[in-house]
Amino acid sequence: MSTMTYDDHGYFEAALGHCDTMDGKLLEVDGLTVSFDGFKALDNLSVSIAPEELRVIIGPNGAGKTTFLDILCGKTEADVGSVKFKGIDLSKLTQYQIVRSGVARKFQTPSTYEDLSVLENFEISIPTGRDVFGSLFFKRNSAVKQRIGDIAEQVFLQDNLRTKAGQLSHGQKQWLEIGMLLIQEPTLLLLDEPVAGMSPRERERTAELLQRIAPGKSIVVIEHDMEFVKNIASTVTVMHHGTVLCTGSLSDVQRDPRVIEVYLGA
Ligand code: ADP
Ligand code: MG
Repeated sequence: MSTMTYDDHGYFEAALGHCDTMDGKLLEVDGLTVSFDGFKALDNLSVSIAPEELRVIIGPNGAGKTTFLDILCGKTEADVGSVKFKGIDLSKLTQYQIVRSGVARKFQTPSTYEDLSVLENFEISIPTGRDVFGSLFFKRNSAVKQRIGDIAEQVFLQDNLRTKAGQLSHGQKQWLEIGMLLIQEPTLLLLDEPVAGMSPRERERTAELLQRIAPGKSIVVIEHDMEFVKNIASTVTVMHHGTVLCTGSLSDVQRDPRVIEVYLGA
């Protein structure tokens, strides 16, 4: 076993198949520290997420929330600490292997193909189609059509399948991108400020969307908007200076004097 590495294909496949959930935890992050030019963006951050949990992360600008997601998806490497997902050490995997293992991440700005229709955007997100041209010829069999139809409905785009992504509203683009991630059937979905720039109505519908898609997966959502957080009624973790300040229900964390101080001081 000691001579095996995660680059060994067989080991990687075996580890994924094993799906060890570590005492009921899907994700276990322990003591993460990341420095940029001596500044600690993350400082001994420890968080764990249970299967099917919907966790909200809040915290002032610069708290390290985005950096945390960057580590989870392999975009940034930690200096110290460990990240275990289904018992697998994610730091040993490439970004592509992390996606394959079931982690899907949405960045702050939507990244959809503006000149393609909603349907085509969904089609190119099907994991077997790796490049735009290859997957445009992806056979539109009935199972694929059904799956895309179900997801389009979940993200409120069932009537927009023929619309070019570039013509969607900002909120609809965000929903499209969430749908594109859902096609990969992730076990852990990471969303960075999905309601930023949305209208109040779109925010409400996004809260509804998250509730709809939650079964069968864990979701970590970074968000500032308290009305939105209230609507999804989940456990909230407050980050500050690269570490966890507290975790609890929204009303608990809002009452916490340390949280009040951080937000008043900000
Ligand atoms: P948040 O998402 O909570 O607003 P970030 O994770 O984006 O916070 O940033 C945390 C801190 O790390 C900020 O001070 C930011 O300027 C710094 N930072 C993030 N990424 C980099 C980077 N690639 N290089 C240098 N500094 C960075
Ligand atoms: Mg951020």
